Amino acid sequence: MGKIVGIDLGTTNSVVAVIEAGKPVVIANSEGGRTTPSVISFSKDGDRLVGQMARRQAVMNPENTFYSVKRFIGRKHTELTTEAKRVSYTVRRDESGNIKVKCPRLEKDFAPEELSAMVIRKLVDEATRYLGTPVTGAVITVPAYFNDSQRQATKDAGKIAGIEVKRIINEPTAASLAYGLDRKDNQKILVFDLGGGTFDVSILEVGDGLFEVKATTGDTQLGGDDFDKVIVDWLADQFFEDQGVDLRKERQALQRLTEAAEKAKIELSTVGSTEINLPFITATADGPLHLDTTLKRSQFERICQDLLERLNIPLEKVFKDAKLSPRQIDEVVLVGGGTRIPAVQELVQKLINKTPNQSVNPDEVVAVGAAIQAGILSGEVKDVLLLDVTPLTIGVETSGGLINRLIPRNTTIPTRKADLFTTAEDNQTSVEIHIVQGERDLAENNKSLGRFKLSGLAPQPRGMAQVDVMFDLNADGILSVTATDRRTGVERRITIKGASTLDPSEVEKAIADAEKFAERDRAKKDRIEKLNRADSLVAAAERQLKDIALNYAYQISFERKKEMEKLIRNLQQAIASEDDYAMDRAQSELQEAVYELSRELYEQKALDEEDDLFGGIRESISSFANRGKDDDRDSYRDNSKEDYKETRESRKSPKQSESRSRRRPSIAVDYDDDDDEWV
Ligand code: ADP
Ligand code: MG
Repeated sequence: MGKIVGIDLGTTNSVVAVIEAGKPVVIANSEGGRTTPSVISFSKDGDRLVGQMARRQAVMNPENTFYSVKRFIGRKHTELTTEAKRVSYTVRRDESGNIKVKCPRLEKDFAPEELSAMVIRKLVDEATRYLGTPVTGAVITVPAYFNDSQRQATKDAGKIAGIEVKRIINEPTAASLAYGLDRKDNQKILVFDLGGGTFDVSILEVGDGLFEVKATTGDTQLGGDDFDKVIVDWLADQFFEDQGVDLRKERQALQRLTEAAEKAKIELSTVGSTEINLPFITATADGPLHLDTTLKRSQFERICQDLLERLNIPLEKVFKDAKLSPRQIDEVVLVGGGTRIPAVQELVQKLINKTPNQSVNPDEVVAVGAAIQAGILSGEVKDVLLLDVTPLTIGVETSGGLINRLIPRNTTIPTRKADLFTTAEDNQTSVEIHIVQGERDLAENNKSLGRFKLSGLAPQPRGMAQVDVMFDLNADGILSVTATDRRTGVERRITIKGASTLDPSEVEKAIADAEKFAERDRAKKDRIEKLNRADSLVAAAERQLKDIALNYAYQISFERKKEMEKLIRNLQQAIASEDDYAMDRAQSELQEAVYELSRELYEQKALDEEDDLFGGIRESISSFANRGKDDDRDSYRDNSKEDYKETRESRKSPKQSESRSRRRPSIAVDYDDDDDEWV
């Protein structure tokens, strides 16, 4: 059986974790990050980028870079506020009222589920690479306020990514689980989650393995990114005052400014002051301009005062909703990268007067909890019993637009509830079952999850028919409803249609599309590897030629060397023209020649040893075998030291930094260095 991982599918960043030897481990991605930006982008060539690479070109390619997709998943177009729709890409309404995201580069529309699936796929691939075994399932977390559709859509995203979503759990529940708070009795926990774009606060009550979300609220337009924006504005205003240029109007400058602002914010979480240095940020007729300034933590806190104050609004509300006072809270759990900001921590501490739990990284704690849940499901983690609850009431609309509540909010799931219904009119031969979710009294004010008809009832006076309606809510909070006419035994069942914004055929299609992308990615990877192999063969052959020039100038004929040079050139040309056929041929010819020459050199060496005339030659032959590796490593080490020194200097002088980029070490430069030495 494949492994089950835990995934925190965040609005801004996503994280994957797994239980290894009984302990949760966060898996770093191939770029080295423990969190992966939830960003997908399509480059000029139509290549798909996911994560850091996609994020880095967001400002340059705004229409084809998709971020904060979580805002749209499982939502109807009408449910979105204007504010939520304000993204740099185009969001449109499709025929069914669902949301589609336009990708001009591919001339294609994506469902939010498909884009989320690309993030999930990347995380699953990283986990597979790390574990060396296939990952087949995942526990995915969602905000506590997510309704049925949003949960179902998240599940669909997993399916499109080719994995089985074993369970959907609430983010605050996962965070509490990571701290083992489920093992204590009757605790009231405040989970304070400041992410990149959203702020969520929840109060949970735990005990006997049961997590109950007492209240959850937040601000969907407030997150760490807003702090970055404040810094960007501060920098741009200052620059405008000094130089008269508005950097916000230049895409490339804005991208660099945004990256530098986030970096500064993150640094200020640990140090009191940070330098912001952006050489060549723009140019005027008089020449290039540079940005060079210092931001102090106190100054940062001052310019972010408004944001910090806004955090108090949901905080006050959550206590009111839960009918609790801050004094009654037993534990505080900090979640989200934004809670690393010292001023944010102070704010929480001041309110609750308790040291928050933060021994688990706040930006990883949700994924860790999800991994623990995955471990519970696969049997790797024992002695924890986790029960979740449904966040919203589910019921059936009855005559007059009222609701008959079958499953009240905070019911432990899985659960089954049934009720008996009848007709409202004489001779009514069918009934419509309209399923709604929410806390409002009138059906129309709640979310409609779906409706279906049970027909074929015998004509009778009103109130005589007996229809059993059964709600079956599974552990993921996904609902199926069955209606049975007691008299005829006629039964109809649906798994909530409204809950999934995609119908099954769309999901199937999306799965097929995702497969296509995966194939493209694989093909691309194969190609890159092929080019790399050809490149390294060229390098090896050149190395061999140099060695000959140095040590065997007289033993190997001039023609042989010329022949070798020709084969190298052939392969280089084939690489440059990206002609696969020519490349294969040139590669095998060159490979053959390299082998042949190596063999000759080896024989030569044996001869020399017999003669034992040239001790020096023996030495250089043995280094021929090792030199490639050692030399590269040494020169790289030296270069990187120099590089580091230059980086430090470049903070003061932008000009040096430019020379640095020209002298950045690379393998190619290595050969030039060797040349200087040998020729
Ligand atoms: P989400 O849950 O929305 O996907 P995260 O929990 O990963 O997001 O939080 C991302 C936010 O946290 C970003 O705005 C990022 O800049 C911020 N962040 C990450 N590390 C730090 C830090 N050390 N100090 C301040 N902010 C940080
Ligand atoms: Mg989060």
